[in-house]
Amino acid sequence: MLQLRPSCECCDKDLPPAAPDAMICTFECTFCRDCVERRLHGVCPNCGGNFAARPIRPLAALAKNPPSTQRVFNPQGCGAA
Ligand SMILES: [Zn+2]
Ligand SMILES: [Zn+2]
Repeated sequence: MLQLRPSCECCDKDLPPAAPDAMICTFECTFCRDCVERRLHGVCPNCGGNFAARPIRPLAALAKNPPSTQRVFNPQGCGAA
């Protein structure tokens, strides 16, 4: 099951479960679309893999399977100054 991490690893932007711009790699490293396109150029800085849009979990399923609340913030990995 997807963890549905709550934020972008690069810019710490909130990415709630319904965010249409959340992107994940195969290990579920999670980023916003802006960072994927402008800073990462489609390559995950942690594993070197590519990204796909994160599927949106329906509300009914969220109640049973709540999203992760643990924020991952690792701007060094994103080429940030
Ligand atoms: Zn971001
Ligand atoms: Zn990754």
